[in-house]
Order: sequence, then C-alpha cells, then structure tokens
Amino acid sequence: MKLILLGPPGSGKGTQAVRITQKYRVPHISTGDIFRSHIRRESALGLEVKNYLDQGLLVPDEVTVRIVENRLTEPDCQDGFLLDGFPRTLMQAKALDEGLQKLGKALTAVINLEVRNDTVIKRMAGRQICSGCGETYNLYFNKPQTEGICDKCNRALYTRSDDTEETIANRLRAYAGQTAPLIGYYSRKGLLVPVNGEQSADEVFNSVSGALKLGFL
Ligand code: ADP
Ligand code: AMP
Repeated sequence: MKLILLGPPGSGKGTQAVRITQKYRVPHISTGDIFRSHIRRESALGLEVKNYLDQGLLVPDEVTVRIVENRLTEPDCQDGFLLDGFPRTLMQAKALDEGLQKLGKALTAVINLEVRNDTVIKRMAGRQICSGCGETYNLYFNKPQTEGICDKCNRALYTRSDDTEETIANRLRAYAGQTAPLIGYYSRKGLLVPVNGEQSADEVFNSVSGALKLGFL
C-alpha cells in the first residue's frame, strides 16, 4: 500500500491516518508532524520553517521534497507508506512521481477526503491534541470526558498554534490555490479515491477501507 491522503486542512487526514496505518501496517509520514517536531527541538530545519507554519503558508517545495525523499528511502517504507499532507503542490507531486520511479515504486491510491469549508473551519477551530500520546479531540465533535485532559493517558490537551482564525484563513487559501489542483492531477492518472469526509470518523474509515478493498487488494 503506497497511499496519499489528500484533503483540505482539518478534513480529518491525521484522524484517518491513525486508523489506516494500524490496519495496513504502513508508516505514517506527515510533513506537518515532521516540521512541528523540528520546531519543538529548535533544529536548523525547525528555525527555517517556523515562520511558514506560524503564518499558515506552505513551506518551500525544495525543503519539503528533500524531507520526504529522504524519509521514503528508510527501510520501514520498503513495502508501503501513507503520506499525509504531502504533496501539497503540483511541483511536489511531480517530484514524488520522479522519486518513486527512481525507486521502482508506484502509488496505489490517492484518498481524497471531501469536506465542506464550513466544516473544516469548525474542525480546526475546535481541535485539541494530547501532549502525551498525540490523540486528537474536538470541542465540537469529539470532546474529552474531562475538559482539557486526555481520556487515554490523562495528560493535558493543547491547541495547535496555527489553529487561529487568521491562520486558518491563510491555510484554506493555500489549499484552494496550490493543493486543490492535485485532485485533477491524480484523477487523470486514475488514482483518485473520493471519500465523503463529512461522515463520522468511523464511517469515513469504513468508506476508505471499503474502497481500498474493492479497487486495490
Ligand atoms: P487534518 O489532519 O486533515 O488537519 P485532523 O485529523 O487533525 O485533520 O482533524 C481535524 C479536527 O477534526 C480534529 O479535532 C479531529 O478530532 C476532528 N475530526 C476529524 N475527523 C472528523 C470527523 N469525521 N468528524 C468530526 N470531527 C472530525
Ligand atoms: P498540517 O499538519 O498538514 O496541517 O501542516 C501544517 C503546516 O505545515 C502547513 O500549514 C504548512 O505550513 C506546513 N506543511 C505541511 N506539509 C507541507 C507541504 N507538503 N508543503 C508545504 N508546507 C507544508
């Protein structure tokens, strides 16, 4: 399984990635998570990308492509992977095609989570993440039992610093201008699997696994 999860910010890519990687036993590669981990560690890459994330702008293609190309050559990616949040531009998609071709690999499918703008805005505005285990909650759709505390590991929940009104607007603009054209790109390649992302997280996952079973296994 060599999969891409495509969809606007807040569409549920990370939520589905947890389920997909458990079922199909492939590594979860989230460029957003990689960047945030570098920013936390204050590495050279973290310092380079921090401003882009803070403003909700895309990190330059050269930087992002290099990170993913390196990650895909690691041994755990030999038999498959799930890319979450990459590619986000046509240039990234083309670089990925070339990189995979060099490795003698091809994509299995591109899952496109279709979610309306008003829904993703609410999902991002209500998102809360566990500082311990990374579990994602939502103030509107999936509240923790105790306010601010993770149900699973009892650690404190935090809000992503880019889930603010202004940054959300920038991220949606970047998605519409730079990422949405990838839907046509992968559709023309016969790889696109559209999934209704407005359903509950479990229903979305059922649709994803049903589509993968039908078309690709
Ligand atoms: P992305 O990785 O695409 O930015 P996330 O998986 O982090 O999105 O989800 C964004 C927010 O929406 C989180 O708070 C998550 O708990 C919530 N969420 C995800 N999927 C659903 C869903 N199907 N229905 C309701 N809320 C959801
Ligand atoms: P995400 O966690 O996927 O919502 O990504 C958070 C932020 O990381 C984005 O708003 C961008 O600033 C940056 N980012 C993540 N993936 C990419 C990518 N493929 N290309 C450029 N920037 C990215």
